[in-house]
Amino acid sequence: MSVVSRCTASVPMPGVGTDIPDFYRNTNSAVPIMAKQSEKVDEEESDIDQYDVLACEAMDACFTAFDKNGDGFLDEREFSLVCRALFRNDRGKIYNVEPKKVHEMFTVFDKNEDGFIDRQEFIFCWNQWIKKIVRPISVILVVDVQNDFISGTLNISHCSAKQNGAEVIEPINKLLDTVDFDAVVYSLDWHPSDHVSFIDNIHLRKVDSSSPKSSEEAKVYDTVIFEGPPPMKQRLWPRHCVQESWGAELHKNLKVVDNAIKVYKGTNPDVDSYSVFWDNKKLSDTTLCSELKQRNATDIYVCGLAYDVCVGATAADSLASGYRTILIDDCSRGVDLEDIEQTKKNVTSHNGVIVDSSQVKAMVEGRDRRPELGYKLAVELKNVKA
Ligand SMILES: [Zn+2]
Repeated sequence: MSVVSRCTASVPMPGVGTDIPDFYRNTNSAVPIMAKQSEKVDEEESDIDQYDVLACEAMDACFTAFDKNGDGFLDEREFSLVCRALFRNDRGKIYNVEPKKVHEMFTVFDKNEDGFIDRQEFIFCWNQWIKKIVRPISVILVVDVQNDFISGTLNISHCSAKQNGAEVIEPINKLLDTVDFDAVVYSLDWHPSDHVSFIDNIHLRKVDSSSPKSSEEAKVYDTVIFEGPPPMKQRLWPRHCVQESWGAELHKNLKVVDNAIKVYKGTNPDVDSYSVFWDNKKLSDTTLCSELKQRNATDIYVCGLAYDVCVGATAADSLASGYRTILIDDCSRGVDLEDIEQTKKNVTSHNGVIVDSSQVKAMVEGRDRRPELGYKLAVELKNVKA
């Protein structure tokens, strides 16, 4: 069981759910609504670069602008121009999207599979895809920036990667000061004294005969298998983040914003919980899932401690839950360099992205629109009925 408490009632929401013109009126002024640079709409593919998708004040205008041959349908070539307009960074540089991926995304929106996106199909494409890419609802998860991981009993600087957990505080604070996230979530590892992950509790449970280490042999950071049913793999850690202790407190220099959501995990003595979404056995989810649903969150930014443990597990669950997921590299520190590399691979191979904190603001404001995240959303929409 995990507990979630929200400090105060509401988090401001941007203009979502309103009609299309309002949607754009509410667009943050930092998002440039670029005017058409040229009056003529001709067949020159290069001309489309002069149009920003944001120039389209309404769905119909957008459809018309990209229906270059005026036949009332978007064919795959015209859809690829939508992608060119959509996927660019805040300096207008167009991200390359592989034709294979463009094709795959096209088929998601060509619901009747006739080789064209008609106006009816475009409604779904506009509402479920383009709008979310241009105006994402962004939530940041600040994972376990707690004393024990920085200077306490599980000080990660003593682990093989020898990274300093305190180094995440400054870049995270800067992000919270400068980026207007739709919600900020802090997770806390929050264990009862008899927690299964503590090496000094190993005598409290029976180690399975299949375990690579017996309870006598097992040392800190080893993995054992506890008796079931079903048998359960568990890595053994020093006693850490015991509920209500100093070690479990968020670091005093970490900025805690108003209206923050706090998620307490690892509260079940018998199950560890690396991810902020689920415990390791997926027995129970935290109420993070419902908090995100309530806010119509589209984009989840993950950072904190430890990169290759709780941050990585959280990013994996975020992707598995269908969210466009961004791991903030310089706002995370970890335990083992090889595992950190593996964490990055896991994220990118599931269509998530790894970014530097300097790139986050433009992404949250919809000015830097990554094709990987657009592709991820399209994949999620594959089986959604229009
Ligand atoms: Zn823990």
